[in-house]
Amino acid sequence: MARRSKIIATIGPASENARTLKGMIEAGMDVARIGLAHGTVDEQIAKFQMVRAVAADLGRHVGIVVDLPGPKVRCMPFTDGGAELVEDTQVSLGVEETKSSSDHINVDYPNLLQDVQLGDSLSFGDGQVVVSIENREGERLKARVVHGGKLNGSPGLHVPSDRLRMSSPTDHDLELLDTFVEMGTDMVAVSFVRSAHDIRRLGVEPAPRGPMVIAKVETKAAVSNLEGIIEASGAVMVARGDLGSEMDIEELPHLQKYIIQECIALGRPAITATQMLESMVSAPTPTRAEASDIANAVFDGTSALMLSGETAIGRDPVNAVRTMARITARADEKFDYESWAEHIQAIRRGSRSDAAYLRVTDALTMAAARTATETDAEAIICLSRSGFTVRSVARFRPTVPLFGMTFDDRTANQLSLSWGTRPLIFNEQATPAATAEEAVATAARVGVVRSGDTVVVVSGSSAETHATDTLRVLRVP
Ligand code: PEP
Repeated sequence: MARRSKIIATIGPASENARTLKGMIEAGMDVARIGLAHGTVDEQIAKFQMVRAVAADLGRHVGIVVDLPGPKVRCMPFTDGGAELVEDTQVSLGVEETKSSSDHINVDYPNLLQDVQLGDSLSFGDGQVVVSIENREGERLKARVVHGGKLNGSPGLHVPSDRLRMSSPTDHDLELLDTFVEMGTDMVAVSFVRSAHDIRRLGVEPAPRGPMVIAKVETKAAVSNLEGIIEASGAVMVARGDLGSEMDIEELPHLQKYIIQECIALGRPAITATQMLESMVSAPTPTRAEASDIANAVFDGTSALMLSGETAIGRDPVNAVRTMARITARADEKFDYESWAEHIQAIRRGSRSDAAYLRVTDALTMAAARTATETDAEAIICLSRSGFTVRSVARFRPTVPLFGMTFDDRTANQLSLSWGTRPLIFNEQATPAATAEEAVATAARVGVVRSGDTVVVVSGSSAETHATDTLRVLRVP
C-alpha cells in the first residue's frame, strides 16, 4: 500500500538549495513549511520561490505553508557554537541587543520584566533548558537553571501565554501575511492562537480565494477554546513544542489524541508536529521511541506529520524525510481501517450541524467511502472547488486511492496536506459544472484509472447549495 499520511518538512539552512529540495520531494515531502521567525523577508521569499520552482520542475503539487512567528519571545543569538547552561547555576536575563552567553541571556521582548513574576518557570527551545526566576536586580532578572542543556542560535523563550501581554496575530504577523498572500501562499500557520477571534483577525478570504489557515494549538487557552478554533480554521497543528512547555508534560500524549479526535469530528486535517525525529538532527537513524511516536500519531488519526529542525538545520534532510516516509507508510498499512469506520461514526459532528449543507456533505461523503469499499471500487474521485469535500471523504480513511480533482492550483496544493489524497487538476476543457463522466475521462487520460475500473465520483450539483450532494458509481469506458 502506498503511503497515505502526509509529510510536512521545514525549510532552513540545511535544505534551502535546489538539490536538497528535489531530494526531499522525491523522498516524500508533500508540504514545505517556511518559518517566518528566522531570517529576513527577502530570504523567506527566496525560499518560497525556490520551492515553487523545484516542485514545478518535478511536476508535483507541493503545498507551501508560511508559519507566522506570533508573539514569540526569542533570545539574542548565542555566541558561536552555542552555550551549555549548567544545572543549579545562576543566569542573568534581560532585554539588550547584545549576544547571549551561558550566564547572560538577552531577549527581544521589551516587556519581559513586566510580564514575568518571581517563581515563574521559563523554558528555552522546546524545553531543552528550564530556569526559575529568583529575583530582580535593576533591569535584569536572576534565574536559577532547573534543567540544564545546550542552547544554539536564537532559541525561543517560552513565557506562560496567560502572562504575555502580546496577542496573536501581531502587527508584524499581519504585515508578513500581506506579503505572502500576494506571493500566493497555499497555507498560513498562526502561532499562539487563543481563540477563534484570533483566526478571524487575519482577515483572509475563504479558500480557495485565500490561503488555508492552520491554527497552531500551543496555549492553554487554545485547548479550552478548541472547538471554535477548529471551526474557524482549515486545519490544525498540534504544536507539541510550546504546548509541552505550557502544559504538564504528562498531559501531552492525551492532548494530542484529544485535539486530533476533535479535528476528525469536525472534518479538518490535524498535523502532529515537533521532535518527531529530533535525534536525526545529528544522527543517521531515529531512536526507537521516535519510530513508535510517528506510528502512534498515524493511529491517532493525524493527517500529516511535521519535521522541524530535522530538515531545517539537520545533517541530512533527505534522509530524515525518507525515514519518516518509511515509518509512516508501514503505519498506514497496519492502520485499523475497519475499526475506524465505527470510531468515526461515533464522533463525527457534521450530522448534528445546524447547517443543512454540512449535514448533506457529511452523509454523502460517508456514503462515498462506504460505497467504494462495498463495490470494490478502484478509486474515489472528488470534484471540489475548495477541497472541503475531499477532506470530508478523507476523514473516513477509505482504503482505495482518493483523488481530489479541482480547477484551482491553490486547492490542489492545499490537498497535498489532506490524508490519502492525490490532487489532480481538471481537464482544461471541462467547465466548472463538469460532470462525473468528464472527471472519469480526465483521470483515465492521466492514467490513474483504467478501462473497466469501477470509480466512485462525489461532487456538488450546484454552487448555491455548497453541499456535496451527488454520488455516482461509474465504470471507466
Ligand atoms: C511547536 O511549538 O511545536 C511549533 C511547531 O512551533 P514553532 O516550531 O514555530 O515553535
